[in-house]
Amino acid sequence: MIQTRSLRFAYPSGAALTFADLDAPQGATVLLRGNSGSGKSTWLALAAGLLTATAGEFVLAGQPLSALPQSARDAWRGRNVGFLPQQLHLSSALTVQRNLELAFYATGLPVDHAAVARSLEVLGVAGLAQRFPSQLSGGQAQRVALARATLMKPKVILADEPTASLDDDAAQASLALLRETAKQCGATLVIATHDRRVLDALPDAIVHAIGAGAGAGAAP
Ligand code: ADP
Ligand code: MG
Repeated sequence: MIQTRSLRFAYPSGAALTFADLDAPQGATVLLRGNSGSGKSTWLALAAGLLTATAGEFVLAGQPLSALPQSARDAWRGRNVGFLPQQLHLSSALTVQRNLELAFYATGLPVDHAAVARSLEVLGVAGLAQRFPSQLSGGQAQRVALARATLMKPKVILADEPTASLDDDAAQASLALLRETAKQCGATLVIATHDRRVLDALPDAIVHAIGAGAGAGAAP
């Protein structure tokens, strides 16, 4: 589940953002909708505990993020949050398999090689385990990043503009894959997007407006 209350975030140098309250049950799909610059990526970074709210509360899978000490955030994120950023951040010096193994170091858990193999298998990219990121197509790289994001069976999956650079068929495939993967993990799925195709493809999603028109926007 995800619950936010009176959430605000101000960048030191600029924009102050306020966000409408959200209540989403565990396993739901949430679409963060808003124009470019409205604060979608910021919201995701707050959800992942990469940024700390200036005010208000963010509760993720029962955990109030403000109660997590800074030192515990990386491990908590590693175990509970699957993050699919817009830039996939696969390490170019490492093979696909090693990129997935890296996820264990952040959590402090021993590398589970069987879990790595299974995750690649589930996403249909087991055959690419020994390749380097530069040897993958865009769609393959996204699958690998999703395999990494869901390796720990996270309670929430956060995807930032997953369809932005994809044609119609690939966008549909990517959304289906996200949904299927979230279902397998029992995870809540949050997709930040200003892509109309996502809204049309996921009619049962909770639509959460970000920015002006959401009862939120730039703070005075
Ligand atoms: P979106 O993902 O919806 O495009 P962002 O969350 O990236 O929006 O950005 C929201 C607002 O915060 C924008 O006005 C953007 O310019 C500003 N912003 C984003 N990152 C930073 C930063 N690191 N420092 C200052 N302002 C930022
Ligand atoms: Mg963004």
